[in-house]
Amino acid sequence: MATFRLQRRYLPPLASGEEIWCQLFSEPSAGSDLAGLRTRAERRGEDWVINGQKIWTSGAHFSDFGILITRTDPAVPKHQGLTMFFIDMKSKGVDIRPIKQVNGQSGFNEVYFTDLRIPDSQRLGKVGGGWRVSLTTLMNERLSIGANMPTGFPELFDFCCRFATADGPIIEDRAIRSRLATWAVRASGLKYTAFRTISALSKGETPGPENSIGELVAGTTMQEIATLALDLQGQMGVLSMFALDLMGQGGVLQGEDQTEASGRFQRMLLRSPATRIEGGTDEILRNIIAERVLGLPPDIRVDKDVAFNRIPTTTRRERS
Ligand SMILES: Cc1cc2nc3c(=O)[nH]c(=O)nc-3n(C[C@H](O)[C@H](O)[C@H](O)COP(=O)(O)OP(=O)(O)OC[C@H]3O[C@@H](n4cnc5c(N)ncnc54)[C@H](O)[C@@H]3O)c2cc1C
Repeated sequence: MATFRLQRRYLPPLASGEEIWCQLFSEPSAGSDLAGLRTRAERRGEDWVINGQKIWTSGAHFSDFGILITRTDPAVPKHQGLTMFFIDMKSKGVDIRPIKQVNGQSGFNEVYFTDLRIPDSQRLGKVGGGWRVSLTTLMNERLSIGANMPTGFPELFDFCCRFATADGPIIEDRAIRSRLATWAVRASGLKYTAFRTISALSKGETPGPENSIGELVAGTTMQEIATLALDLQGQMGVLSMFALDLMGQGGVLQGEDQTEASGRFQRMLLRSPATRIEGGTDEILRNIIAERVLGLPPDIRVDKDVAFNRIPTTTRRERS
């Protein structure tokens, strides 16, 4: 298990950003149902040998290290047989394949492990205690997404103050004012919720399930705001998409359309679906808030107490 010496070696450069880390959690058949993961870690003397695959690993292609959740005991219920490790991403046995996105960029990767051998000193937490470690990571991730995510409200407000149609300035439109008021309240609620959490963190507390609220509200608000801004821009909204392309190719735009052409709302609109998936989808965040914040009855989980290797993975028709 990671010792104080290892903590001193790895944590300061992680916090300062001198060394980049990634989060090796999701797999092709384990995203929302993360505890269904299949990457295996098997004990060999003082070492562990890891085989399997991760997907959607942001930044793996430029990361120095990664935290990796694995299955160490398939004979117990799925949440109990998991163990967390950290690995050097340049190790033999780690194959990183960037995923090419529709915009031409590669933000995340597939990562394959073939007989990756690591010492037990790279284990984080207890053997079989990986679920607990991953929950701490996920709650911090949701906090950082929710607390840092711009909703786009100040930009939209500024845009509405300057924008006019043939009917006059849109800031005088009652329907627009009503929507702006709703988003102003939400943006303010998010801001003070984040402040409250940061105050709690400064007193040594850890982020809890309530931090799912920030990511959920910020993601949906950003999408709604960007959609309205594009609707208001009319044809210009589409032109701005084009302008985005031009700028990507080194083109320069001049004149009064520049702000709209900067593609701010278009970028927001294109990014917002990802915000509503990364770190937990809207549905999963709603389940967490319902169960762990509001104390409502839990979602039905038929495989919760079944040994992982006894959970059926194919249908009867496929088996026959
Ligand atoms: C920009 C971005 C960056 C990412 N970075 C990383 C990373 O660095 N590391 C990493 O490990 N992963 C990363 N991911 C992956 C992310 O964690 C998963 O995509 C996410 O958890 C959803 O899993 P999935 O894609 O397998 O979808 P699925 O789990 O297959 O979900 C499909 C749909 O079913 C719904 N659904 C599933 N279960 C339930 C349920 N119980 N109740 C109601 N609805 C349900 C979901 O809400 C969703 O709409 C990233 C994703 C994105 C978009």
